Amino acid sequence: MSARTDIPAPAGMLAELTHRCPLGCPYCSNPVALEKPASELDTATWKRVFSEAAKAGVLHVHLSGGEPCVRTDIADLTAHCADVGLYTNLITSGVGLNRRLFDALVAARLDHLQLSIQDAEAASADRIAGYDGAFARKKEIARWTVEAGLPLTINAVMHRANIARAARMVELAIELGARRVEVAHAQYYGWGLVNRAALMPSRAETEIAVAAVEALRKTHEGVIVIDHVVPDYHARYPKACMSGWARRTFNVTPSGKVLPCHAAETIPHLDFWNVRERSVADIWYESPAFNAYRGLDWMKEPCRSCERREIDFGGCRCQALALTGDARNTDPICEKSPLHAGVGALAAHDAASGALDYRYRRLGAKT
Ligand code: SF4
Ligand code: SF4
Repeated sequence: MSARTDIPAPAGMLAELTHRCPLGCPYCSNPVALEKPASELDTATWKRVFSEAAKAGVLHVHLSGGEPCVRTDIADLTAHCADVGLYTNLITSGVGLNRRLFDALVAARLDHLQLSIQDAEAASADRIAGYDGAFARKKEIARWTVEAGLPLTINAVMHRANIARAARMVELAIELGARRVEVAHAQYYGWGLVNRAALMPSRAETEIAVAAVEALRKTHEGVIVIDHVVPDYHARYPKACMSGWARRTFNVTPSGKVLPCHAAETIPHLDFWNVRERSVADIWYESPAFNAYRGLDWMKEPCRSCERREIDFGGCRCQALALTGDARNTDPICEKSPLHAGVGALAAHDAASGALDYRYRRLGAKT
């Protein structure tokens, strides 16, 4: 059991209000075993969780899903977050938002809207989303957001089908009036792992896209903030996943399980405590799952004696498990991992596979 004084308070929370979503993105970060609507927390419980989070030190909450706007209480929950002093960011596909609901969210004091866009070309964007007309709908939501004076971030996930238009995505975000664009290369967990062969770009395609986005960062400095999440499998070092396990933020699933990251449930031996039975503070400080990989003591070599261990925290535990069979191993994206060469070979194999068919993310889909 940890001494609470040794652990920093949480700063951020991602509230997965539901796993329902009209779209079917093949890289969706939700788990493959999506939680059923009947298991979702009710309004009163979410409000209690937001109050507890604010009391525990959380400053900002991402209202996410699935598609959070399918919850009929989304404006009520947003207003409650504002009442308890939380900065709210709505992460939405835009599909499911109508004018009446949008106005209700503005009235509820929503602080920020983050809109996903699947491609800069309508036909491709709708195919990736698995939803006809999604692209046009998103452009309309972007317009409402800017007209309402809400800060807008565009979120663009890059993979084989759209990586040639990475720079075009940044330009589209500027045209839409976004203040920030997040160009994130697909992460291979959950649905992304299921669809990896159909998503993986080649190293050459990746390098061209990365260079193009970095060039635009200079061109558009002061116009738009470009956050660029580098592609894992083609990198030399891993990302600092979640800024370190249980170090700054946590996720709450639709049914109330509290996770250190999106994919943590893929680590089978971890036991995730639930907000139905425990407070947010108790879970953050005392949950065995949060303490499993907190800090540096759990590390094996080469991470344990590496000078970068407080920069990337050994990479991602879920990726280490998925690719090496042991969540305590060095994330094999790292070139210091003895298993790193295998990752490059895997990426090259998938990129050359020519696979085109997605297994769309759907509730009840067979994988
Ligand atoms: S990534 Fe796509 S499918 Fe997943 S929640 Fe977001 S919009 Fe829905
Ligand atoms: S050995 Fe571990 S700590 Fe060092 S760079 Fe690689 S993943 Fe990071």
